[in-house]
Amino acid sequence: MQFRNLKKQYEILKPEIDAALLQVLKDSNYISGRQVTELEEELAGYTGVRHCVTCANGTDALTLALMTWGIGKGDAVFVPDFTFFSSAETVAYAGATPVFTDILEDTFNMDPDSLERAVRAVLAEGKLKPKAIVTVDLFGLQADYERIRPIADRYGLYILEDAAQGFGGSCHGKQAGSFGDIAITSFFPAKPLGCYGDGGAVFTDHDEWASLLRSLRIHGKGSDKYDNVRIGLNSRLDTLQAAVLQVKLKAFCEYELRDTDQIAARYTEGLRDCVKVPLIPEGYSSGWAQYSILLKDEKEREEVQSYLREQDVPTMIYYQRGMHQQTAFRGLCLYGEDFTVTEDVCKRVLALPLSPYLTEEEQQKVIRLIREKTSGSKEALA
Ligand SMILES: *Cc1c(COP(=O)(O)O)cnc(C)c1O
Repeated sequence: MQFRNLKKQYEILKPEIDAALLQVLKDSNYISGRQVTELEEELAGYTGVRHCVTCANGTDALTLALMTWGIGKGDAVFVPDFTFFSSAETVAYAGATPVFTDILEDTFNMDPDSLERAVRAVLAEGKLKPKAIVTVDLFGLQADYERIRPIADRYGLYILEDAAQGFGGSCHGKQAGSFGDIAITSFFPAKPLGCYGDGGAVFTDHDEWASLLRSLRIHGKGSDKYDNVRIGLNSRLDTLQAAVLQVKLKAFCEYELRDTDQIAARYTEGLRDCVKVPLIPEGYSSGWAQYSILLKDEKEREEVQSYLREQDVPTMIYYQRGMHQQTAFRGLCLYGEDFTVTEDVCKRVLALPLSPYLTEEEQQKVIRLIREKTSGSKEALA
């Protein structure tokens, strides 16, 4: 069984993807071809924001956003402790200081109370200037913007929405990628909308930031291509990847997201009485980058994972450790937060095989095996 069945997706989309790739080869516009501009318009339309600026990957997209705001030395940027390394790495790379917040067990997303405590602690210490919050839409579910936005307003902080996993999700009809002052996504192959290599995009409604982003992604170019007016990056999405994404975006909108949502609902139905299933709050809809369950403890997770592995069912642990436990961040000030939830979740979380192409038979097998391995401990609990 495949954890994320990209092979099957290609088999189904092959005629369209092959034609799209061939067209790029025929045109030989490998960089900044028309497919890139078309894709940006399609993505902006889907997300419901004025500007989409594609770039080389999701990590660069975060860096470009931080550069746009001039975030650097002496600035504090708040990041959930439970996320992929990039969310905090890019803050440190920009010269600023990542300040971690704990998460909520039910949604795996940033805990707004922990955020506010961290902001106050940084202000009380008086060394760093709070500048921005990286809100991560983890596993496909939007962070709690209803509670985070007022905190951002109260302390004058930008929201950088890391929707690398959030693409396709929505909250009360508003799409992921439209909640941050700037938002980013990633087209890494395993993300909800992936290309055939690396790719990323930045979203914003702000006209000036959008033109800054367009300059920053191509060596800080001015209106004359060979007059460089600022220091930037070389971070373009290439035309071949844009062509692949145009085909995949169509499939994503037409049926992939809907099918993934149905598969997730079947997991929830089949597993809710024996493990903790992901909570999707009222009014939210997940992009389902992952379907992650929580086992009772580390021992039960180890048993379930090896039992599944023996029967050819791959699972993944996202994530094994919190940001504050990363070697690269050793020695960083933690401002009194203790990350109890993150540390607990790291020991119990397990991501199950998921893609729009997971068959019902495959899924029944996953559910059956997990039930076999956990029902006993459930009885023991009762
Ligand atoms: C994947 C991911 C990124 C980075 O995207 P890349 O395209 O791999 O650079 C950033 N943040 C989160 C939450 C991610 O999952």
